[in-house]
Amino acid sequence: MTRPIRTRIAPSPTGFPHVGTAYIALFNMVFAKANGGEFILRIEDTDQVRSTAQSEAMILDALKWAGLSWSEGPDIGGPYAPYRQSERMDIYKKYAEELLDKGLAFRCFCTPDELDKMREEQMAQGLAVKYDGRYANLSREESDKLANSGKPFVIRMKVPTDGVCVIDDMLRGKIEIPYENVDMQVLLKTDGLPTYHLANVVDDHLMQITHVIRGEEWISSAPKHKLLYEYFGWEMPVLCHMPLLRNPDKSKLSKRKNPTSITYYRDAGVLPEALLNYLGRMGYSLPNEAEKFTLDEMIASFDITRVSLGGPVFDIEKLYWLNGEYLRAMDSCELKNRLLAWASNDDKLNAIAKAIQPRINTLSDAVNWAGFYFTNLPNITADDFTHKSLTSEQILEILYLATWQLEALPTWSEENIYAVMKGLSAHFEIKLKDFMQPFFVAIAGTTASTPVMNSMYVIGADMTLARLRHACEVLGGMGKKKLKKLEETNARLPNFLA
Ligand code: GLU
Repeated sequence: MTRPIRTRIAPSPTGFPHVGTAYIALFNMVFAKANGGEFILRIEDTDQVRSTAQSEAMILDALKWAGLSWSEGPDIGGPYAPYRQSERMDIYKKYAEELLDKGLAFRCFCTPDELDKMREEQMAQGLAVKYDGRYANLSREESDKLANSGKPFVIRMKVPTDGVCVIDDMLRGKIEIPYENVDMQVLLKTDGLPTYHLANVVDDHLMQITHVIRGEEWISSAPKHKLLYEYFGWEMPVLCHMPLLRNPDKSKLSKRKNPTSITYYRDAGVLPEALLNYLGRMGYSLPNEAEKFTLDEMIASFDITRVSLGGPVFDIEKLYWLNGEYLRAMDSCELKNRLLAWASNDDKLNAIAKAIQPRINTLSDAVNWAGFYFTNLPNITADDFTHKSLTSEQILEILYLATWQLEALPTWSEENIYAVMKGLSAHFEIKLKDFMQPFFVAIAGTTASTPVMNSMYVIGADMTLARLRHACEVLGGMGKKKLKKLEETNARLPNFLA
């Protein structure tokens, strides 16, 4: 009996809402809808250190804003709830133990030092770095004895030492991966919590997922997942690995070269329907080759085998061009309504009003003072950064370091922004006022502006980081070697939030 089609997007809430997530979600949703199925959302927050509630909320908001919708998820519940892995933690352990009992997984008692040594020796011998299986054949009695004595362990899956794993992929046909390239993956960590691989497979099974459409970076995980389905005796979902989005220079889409956050594009004034349309063009074309199409049109003619694997380029200029087509196709009254809806974010407007209040004498003054809160990247040149005491080299370093420190903030709050900026200026012994000057230029385009740390908070993390990166570019950027050194400096900086 064929199962009703169910697909999912399974984001890990460890950062900003990435356009790649919207891309993969779109194809999952369209595939499900085109086949009368369901598309669901599951939050994969097994990495409890890096996962945050703020990131989850931003991802859900951004996907909804883009026009994606799911019929089950952590925000709306559903028959397979909960849909957040951190709320399902008691489920996974028994599956790892089931494999242990079946002899398909084993306890590994390696200490971190032992693993480091193993790695070093393998590297010294020019071997591939992987777990060497030293505990794989320990007898169950021996293993129980060690566990009962209180020695910490993880549970790893067994992997055949020779032979080839064949993965069937909807787009790529048969992919062959020798088992010698497959690591004996940790399934359950020392603290009894699952890794991504175990939780992902168990949940896809329990949630009756029939098709896993995900980015090609997951191909190397597929053999582990296939083995797990076999070990459990479960039907495996059909796999489909989509091509990675790329920068115009064909490198993997990265925020260093392009803004990658959905909220950045929202704030820059891209329409959600244009963004989805553009993402729908990534490696895909409608049978009629149309550039501009609605979601419903995409669903009506959808055929996943039309996805082409040559790395699709996410080109901002093309996105803006398409967005312009949408804007021009509206009647002007609709355009006015869209404009008002885009600009009238209550929290943002309140914050702006508060910031400009001491500076304006007429309401019309607000246009000058508040414009930069709404623009995309400011129109600046290297000369705008001229500073009475800092060289442009120093300014560039400060801008890079601030960008990295700010992007690592666990929460985008005024307090945290302040802590980073103040911490950096104190660390480099530069007076805060002098230190802040380049940030006024980068963020507001001018040194005569509302308090800049507050502005950063109000325009949000994505727009702030995009403007800081833009400023670095305007100042000529930094060569690879220097950048590497600066990254080392960054790694040695104290924790300014402590
Ligand atoms: N949590 C994974 C991610 O962050 C999901 C990968 C998958 O779709 O299996 O992308």
